[in-house]
Amino acid sequence: MTMNCPACGSRNLGKIAKNQYFCRDCYREIKFGPKGTVQLAVIAQNGRLLPYKIMKCDSRKCSANS
Ligand SMILES: [Zn+2]
Repeated sequence: MTMNCPACGSRNLGKIAKNQYFCRDCYREIKFGPKGTVQLAVIAQNGRLLPYKIMKCDSRKCSANS
């Protein structure tokens, strides 16, 4: 199963935990939640995670839920 970063489309993802990935291209943490929701967090300069965006995804596409 190949997974793309919902933010930048990269496949350069590293697995952190179950349903949790890190994009090495845009430095976002991607967390897959229930019902196809995807939560993106961006790493701030101080190393803390900033909540970024919650996206709603089906099997192929993600769209911003703003
Ligand atoms: Zn990315």
